[in-house]
Amino acid sequence: MEIACLDLEGVLLPEIWIKFAEATGISELKVTTRDIPDYDELMQLRLSILDQHGLGVNEIQEVIATLSPLEGAAEFLDWLRERFQVVILSDTFYQFAGPLMAQLGNPTLLCHNLEVDATGRVVNYHLRQKDPKRQSVIALKSLYYRIIAAGDSYNDTSMLEEAHAGILFCPPQNVIDEFPQYPVAKNYEEFKAEFVRASNRDLSIYLGGLV
Ligand SMILES: [Mg+2]
Repeated sequence: MEIACLDLEGVLLPEIWIKFAEATGISELKVTTRDIPDYDELMQLRLSILDQHGLGVNEIQEVIATLSPLEGAAEFLDWLRERFQVVILSDTFYQFAGPLMAQLGNPTLLCHNLEVDATGRVVNYHLRQKDPKRQSVIALKSLYYRIIAAGDSYNDTSMLEEAHAGILFCPPQNVIDEFPQYPVAKNYEEFKAEFVRASNRDLSIYLGGLV
């Protein structure tokens, strides 16, 4: 049996912090690891900005509930779940992704956690573990599943390497150049075709049938 391990942001959802910054008009929240490479420093900055604007977990979730998955993402995920067991492996936080996951039918999601106090204030963040995507693939392999992993960026490459097969979805050019061993899908139709190709089962009978 096979499990599909999917990245979330850039594959099914937009970059949530960026969209959240746009929706709230708080442009300081648009900073990413490209601007501040130290992730802890970046997260502490984000948490202090949330505090300054009085945004607790309830306000955050209200804003995020107004956002949408990428166009075609829900349909693609339904297609994939008919053919594979699917686990989403993400570096987002449950409190951030939650309202959007509901729009995707709440698939299994392994990601990080924000620590929230009784008033809803975000007081800290907790990463699930080090190199979480790779570790998840290692764990699923220990159950003798064959793993096909797919993502769009650098933080996915260790799980792609660990998996039996890897696919890049709409990656930036520098990732394509650095990881030429992985096929690239530029839209959900190509993505489906790459999963069919990567599978060791004959999924072709589904094409034109249940698709
Ligand atoms: Mg991503």
